[in-house]
Amino acid sequence: MLSGPSAGEPVPLSEKMVAHYRDTMLAHADDPKLGACPRCLRTRCPDWWWAYERLAAAGRLTDLPGPASSGGGVGAPE
Ligand SMILES: [Zn+2]
Repeated sequence: MLSGPSAGEPVPLSEKMVAHYRDTMLAHADDPKLGACPRCLRTRCPDWWWAYERLAAAGRLTDLPGPASSGGGVGAPE
């Protein structure tokens, strides 16, 4: 009987949780001016790592919104 994910296998995350972890990563990203998380005032704070590791384990890090991403149709003029 298997309980828990095998090492190296993606851990499925619901879209809701992916969005939550993404928000956490963005909220706790290092501020260029501070050189650290603006909320925790430290670089790569635990909250950031927590979200990062969950997204990495789920293989969803590539879903992070970035500048000049192509294919996103939200708000595109038609
Ligand atoms: Zn933080």
